[in-house]
Amino acid sequence: MRNFFSRFFQGRYGSYGTDKLTRFLLILAVVNLIVSICTPFGFLYYIAVALLAYSCYRLLSHNISARYRENERFERVLKKITGLFKRTGSDFLMRSKYHIYTCPNCSQKIRIPRGKGQIIIRCPKCLTEFKKKS
Ligand SMILES: [Zn+2]
Repeated sequence: MRNFFSRFFQGRYGSYGTDKLTRFLLILAVVNLIVSICTPFGFLYYIAVALLAYSCYRLLSHNISARYRENERFERVLKKITGLFKRTGSDFLMRSKYHIYTCPNCSQKIRIPRGKGQIIIRCPKCLTEFKKKS
């Protein structure tokens, strides 16, 4: 039986194990399946089946380089999305602690800690002073 499987997967993309895209598709399929059962969104069942079919197609595909490129593309997009979330997350954290002011003279951005009341800010670039509430 084991022999059969190894022979069956020989030369197919699935013989290299599942990649990130396949795992993502399978998880998405399961989530869609569960949601389609628990909610009135029955059409998600078809999406789940389509996702499963696509995962199987990828695992059984002989065109390994094409599947590999697909996965690479997916990982690039994933990285971009997670990077975006990380950036906005740290940005949000920073903005909760600091005010960002722009110098009225040279438009240099200046980070000022919050909660210090009315303060005079000196631009580190052009030394212009201006009053702001922090
Ligand atoms: Zn300035």
